Amino acid sequence: MKINTNFRNLQGQYLFKDITDRTKAYSASHPGQRVLQLGVGDVTRPLPQVIVQAMKQAADELAHQDTFRGYGPETGYHWLRQTIIDNDYAPRNIQLDVDEVFVSDGAGSDLGNLSELFANDNSVAILDPSYPAYADTTIMAGRQMLNLPCLAENGFVPDLPTGKADIIYLCYPNNPTGIVLTYDQLKQWVDYALANKSIIIYDGAYEAFITQPDIPHSIYEIAGAEKVAIEVRSFSKSAGFTSLRCGYTIVPKATGLNDLWLRRQTTKYNGTSYVSQRAAMATYTAEGQEACKANIRHYLTTAQLIRNGLSEIGFQVYGGENAPYIWCKAPYGWSSWQFFDHLLEQCQVVCTPGVGFGQSGEGYVRFSGFSRREECMEALERIKMTKSYIVNR
Ligand code: PLP
Repeated sequence: MKINTNFRNLQGQYLFKDITDRTKAYSASHPGQRVLQLGVGDVTRPLPQVIVQAMKQAADELAHQDTFRGYGPETGYHWLRQTIIDNDYAPRNIQLDVDEVFVSDGAGSDLGNLSELFANDNSVAILDPSYPAYADTTIMAGRQMLNLPCLAENGFVPDLPTGKADIIYLCYPNNPTGIVLTYDQLKQWVDYALANKSIIIYDGAYEAFITQPDIPHSIYEIAGAEKVAIEVRSFSKSAGFTSLRCGYTIVPKATGLNDLWLRRQTTKYNGTSYVSQRAAMATYTAEGQEACKANIRHYLTTAQLIRNGLSEIGFQVYGGENAPYIWCKAPYGWSSWQFFDHLLEQCQVVCTPGVGFGQSGEGYVRFSGFSRREECMEALERIKMTKSYIVNR
């Protein structure tokens, strides 16, 4: 047996462990001090009742002989796939066939698994900084990686690759920068992919957070994208499904990849649970929509409060308007970890160091609108109080 030695090239998943370790060490040496969590990447509000009721009903169905179900279709139940098209795509004039929608157990699995469709000698372009799954999957396959730096100088929107990128991971609204792309900016990527015969894997996990009217919600709003893009979506952040698990992936037939993905899924994936799919279905009811939108508004308002609060104190902040995340520049040229330590030690506030998302994230930290409102308000007060410390340093 020979192992896949590419796994040895992965960096350890130190970021969240380091954050936890430093926070624990601080708390142990400062008993009684309340540490406030502003780096939260998970949803914090409970599931809407309409979703819970749908799950209870689905569980009851499974408990009775005449409504019991065994394995469902690997690609998801027809009723959910059609509802996804009717609600998320048809209103934007995007025509999709039900066979192009694959229900999943969330975006995370598919973002990694899609890489199986491609030969290992493809080059892969990845936003830097970005959600770590894209780079890690690329390293596991031993593929050549092209970093696309997202910096203040380019408005955190990367330039097109100078070399040829066969596979391109894009994520908008972006985690961690909170930045979105305009139609024109997204069109440049679609045109690049069409010209270079590349494929874009478009991570739209935060699509529901888009508030500005002139921002594309789907890559298929751009002409020709159905030939060069796979879109990955999730109910995790839009409806609070991080524990439940449900999402979907669009693989248009025009990409030439639909039959491969179908074959892959029918071999290696036995479908999303019936209960989760019924729960996902409930998010599309009028009551479900209203409740999910109310939660998103709550997270966005928290993000706005953080953004405005930090900005008033004098920090340079980005994002937080069409995304739950705020990207904040560390003052005085501090590194991400210097700023992290400062906030922990002086204000007892925990954020996420930007360098954990890639080298170009150095010098930034991420704050999150998923944080609890009252903790945010107190954190901002504490940061404000130490402003003189920051300014005089
Ligand atoms: N994509 C991005 C950009 C994310 O931030 C996350 C989770 O934080 C995911 C995908 C994974 O989402 P899921 O819970 O659907 O697996």
